[in-house]
Amino acid sequence: MTGQRKHGKAQGAQGFAPEESTAPVARGLVPRSNGGQPGAPKETIRVGVSACLLGQNVRYDGGHKRHDFVARELARLVTLVPVCPEVELGLGTPREPIRLQRAGGALRLVAPGSGAGHTEAMRRFSEERVSELERLDLSGYVLKKDSPSCGMQRVPVWRGEVATRTGRGAYASVLMTRLPLMPVVEESGLRYASARARFLERVFAYFRDRRRAG
Ligand code: SF4
Repeated sequence: MTGQRKHGKAQGAQGFAPEESTAPVARGLVPRSNGGQPGAPKETIRVGVSACLLGQNVRYDGGHKRHDFVARELARLVTLVPVCPEVELGLGTPREPIRLQRAGGALRLVAPGSGAGHTEAMRRFSEERVSELERLDLSGYVLKKDSPSCGMQRVPVWRGEVATRTGRGAYASVLMTRLPLMPVVEESGLRYASARARFLERVFAYFRDRRRAG
């Protein structure tokens, strides 16, 4: 681990092996990774998640954004791997809010109040953290929308005091560049049962394909 990681990781992975689920949304979608044989070892499907969606108090204001489906239903189906890039980078909780800011041609991650810049530190942290996640062999990821670190799309990018929704969070950008085929969704994309089922199908298919290829 390099000196970039100033704080511990978000609280540990949670969840259960997929066969234990009775959640209606995924009934019939769970892969029989043990071949259905009694006593055969269960394989774990791991899905990364923005830690605040699990109810962890890691947001800049000391709060969370618990998402009921993710924290309860998804956690029964897969092993969730929570990550809060800002806390793990060492920005603390509570902390000064940060945002994406366009300065000339460059996109920066800054705290507008103090003017502190976090662009390079976040990039280095993200590369290192994604390397760890690659070794965990994630099969999907649920990101927190609108976050300058975690947002997948349409994140506000500020130029002066005007924002346009054209950005991607600094951590999410590294994650999605390094793992371009892994299913990724924002929590806002899991509002409806059909969308939840589609995401789960993609996660399980990705998991199966990697097992076959491996
Ligand atoms: S959106 Fe990402 S960086 Fe922000 S609190 Fe949640 S996990 Fe942390």
